[in-house]
Amino acid sequence: MSEIFDTSIAFAKAADAADTLAYLKDAFYFPQHNGKNAIYFCGNSLGLQPIKLQTAFEIELTTWREKAVGGYFGGTNPWLKYHEFLQPSLAKIVGASTSEITVMNSLTVNLHLLMLSFYQPTKERFKIIMESGAFPSDQYAVETLVKHFGLDPTTTIIEIAPNNGNKHLIEADILEAIANAGTALAMVIMGGIHYYTGQLYPMQTITKAAQQVGAVVGFDLAHVVGNVPVALHDWNVDFAVWCSYKYLNAGPGAVGGVFVHEKWATNTNTPRLGGWWGNDEATRFKMEKGFLPKPNASGWNISTTQVFNCIGLKTSLELFDEAGIENLRKKSISLTNYLAFLMQQLPNLSFEIITPSNPHQRGAQLSLYFKENAKAIHNKMIENGIIVDFREPGVIRLAPAPMYCSYLDVYQFYCILRDNF
Ligand SMILES: *Cc1c(COP(=O)(O)O)cnc(C)c1O
Repeated sequence: MSEIFDTSIAFAKAADAADTLAYLKDAFYFPQHNGKNAIYFCGNSLGLQPIKLQTAFEIELTTWREKAVGGYFGGTNPWLKYHEFLQPSLAKIVGASTSEITVMNSLTVNLHLLMLSFYQPTKERFKIIMESGAFPSDQYAVETLVKHFGLDPTTTIIEIAPNNGNKHLIEADILEAIANAGTALAMVIMGGIHYYTGQLYPMQTITKAAQQVGAVVGFDLAHVVGNVPVALHDWNVDFAVWCSYKYLNAGPGAVGGVFVHEKWATNTNTPRLGGWWGNDEATRFKMEKGFLPKPNASGWNISTTQVFNCIGLKTSLELFDEAGIENLRKKSISLTNYLAFLMQQLPNLSFEIITPSNPHQRGAQLSLYFKENAKAIHNKMIENGIIVDFREPGVIRLAPAPMYCSYLDVYQFYCILRDNF
């Protein structure tokens, strides 16, 4: 995939022809606009539906219809272990061993549960570092966690904001905030990619620095998983949580994912809130006193696996296995660079790309800030069958997800802006 772009349609067509992942577009349903597939740049909000999903649902409906409770042990995918079927693919995507992965609940619920495991405030060590302008749900979660412990959010939470007129956090500022908090720092909890600016944070460096002052580190990977490969185990990240309905295409409200580092997961004394699904299956039904968690990330599961909420994820992960997250990332860097290149060839439109220009500091997202006319420009996109995300006060987020977006999609998007403004 060439990095020497031009503004011809021939370039877009040649790049698609050379793209070994291009065929995956046909594995998804697209919203329709005037009888044609819309151009979908909203996979960072809700991924598209895999075509095979309906069949996958029918398999479980059949099992339920024909075997009823027998479906837990029989059928095509015995439900007792359904969450475990998802571990191998997710482990590859986040750089973990299967025993460090589980799926359960949904993202914010898991964020609460994991923070309750890992945030153990004392009189001396209680501060939490997070990025300023974090996703609202994460802000609410951290605020209410702190209050739950009887602490004051204003003196407990340290929000790090870009300095000196920068649009992004620079590594040195993050490290300085960690060093300044020092032995008072209990936990760093950050998004891996900022949902609004699209900045990818240096997670490995943050983890190392925070652990050096004795804090634990968790990441919300909502905008990372299925987008940018990470190495959670090797980076020694303590825990991470994510949702599955963005780049992972698992469907609205699909089951959330959890990583717990082996060093904590194998220790059954690591604090947590328990339930029967996290208990050893051998003793689960002995009705004896005493919760015996599994010595792995599944030891955090609480309730019966939400099978119907996992089907979309299982189906979609088969496509990730086929494509390979590293191949997707390679295409993604090229496709997003191509989009950035074309956006710079629009002299009549006044906007600023607020996402870092370095491809190693972003995933498949560019956020465009329009000082004026943002709503009119967004409406023009809608009229032309382009689905993007609009955020006040005038930011349009474009996510050319490499799984189902083509170079021609990006080119057509450029043409609509070029020809209308
Ligand atoms: C999408 C997103 C969420 C959504 O959380 P749910 O509990 O799944 O509704 C939370 N945090 C971040 C950073 C997100 O990007």
